[in-house]
Amino acid sequence: MNSDSFQAAVSFEAGAPLVLRSVALDAPQTDEVLVALKACAICHSDLYYISGAWKVPLPAVFGHEAAGEIIDLGERSDGADEDLCAGDRVVVSLLRTCGSCSACRRGEESLCSSQTRLDERSPLRLFEGEQKGTRLFQGLRTAAFGEHVLLARSQVAKIPPALDCELACLLGCGVLTGFGAVMNAAAPPEGSHLATIGCGGVGLNCIQAARLTKPKTNIAIDPSEVKRTTACELGATHTYAPSSALPAEVRLATDGGADFVFVAVGNVQAMALGFDMLRPGGCMVVVGMTQEGETLSLDASMLATHGKTLRGSKMGDARLARDVATLIDLHAQKKWDLDKLAGTRFPFADINNALEAARSEGRLRSIVLF
Ligand SMILES: [Zn+2]
Ligand SMILES: [Zn+2]
Repeated sequence: MNSDSFQAAVSFEAGAPLVLRSVALDAPQTDEVLVALKACAICHSDLYYISGAWKVPLPAVFGHEAAGEIIDLGERSDGADEDLCAGDRVVVSLLRTCGSCSACRRGEESLCSSQTRLDERSPLRLFEGEQKGTRLFQGLRTAAFGEHVLLARSQVAKIPPALDCELACLLGCGVLTGFGAVMNAAAPPEGSHLATIGCGGVGLNCIQAARLTKPKTNIAIDPSEVKRTTACELGATHTYAPSSALPAEVRLATDGGADFVFVAVGNVQAMALGFDMLRPGGCMVVVGMTQEGETLSLDASMLATHGKTLRGSKMGDARLARDVATLIDLHAQKKWDLDKLAGTRFPFADINNALEAARSEGRLRSIVLF
């Protein structure tokens, strides 16, 4: 059985506006789920791919921070009890994990290296027109700028009825990454001095997670005043715009430097600045993605002489099911704010306007509604 055709916003050419086209997906096979999306937020990774700065084969459909309702699913291959069914509402993520490769066995699910049939052949194709049948690259293993997505079951996590998809979608990437950078990668003890560089969709969540650890200082750094204000609302105790004086200012505010610095922007200058802001023995966690091949230059004496650590983290070392469940609990207890992260909502047909809003400085997450 094929799923019916539906609309997706297709990227045919780097940097060009997306084009709404009629597309279709394969039917879900073993360990796969078909989800009708309700909402998809726009993440900066989508913008990089659409602009062509990060390259994948075109035509493609991007979008990966989404939530919706399961409409069909294949059987489980592991024989375990079925925990999903049609009608379940789920968060959708690009994290696809097999549970059996060496990374998964180490508990490092975000580094899973296995390939599924979805990686080998995109399940998404054009449904009409001259190019009918052309396979569309499943951007970020999700292709969530479309009304339906076909995913591995490891890419979804259930959400409770009380949580609206408009907010739940945020859990799929930015929230998960910011939360995980602090809670999974750093796990700072109470009373730490913490600093976050970049207060966008990821960094604001580093700030929120930092607040939960009862830090002595929770520093937010961003050139945008609007974002610094939001950071204060989410728990920042100090805010700064980036400058060459910043490391000295941070050292002054933190008894000689931050215990942990979280870098939520893909910018090597920001990373160098962050490393400079650490106290001796401090650790910088980088979740901001740069282009492949970019080089980070650091004063090497900061390593052995000052005992600093540089720690990369893919999506905050997230384990989707575990971390989404924790975040849902925190949100229900009013300890995690999703409303303040959500910016303007756009109907799906206006996705190019939503992308434009996401590109402009100072806005929160733009969210497309299906
Ligand atoms: Zn993302
Ligand atoms: Zn794996």
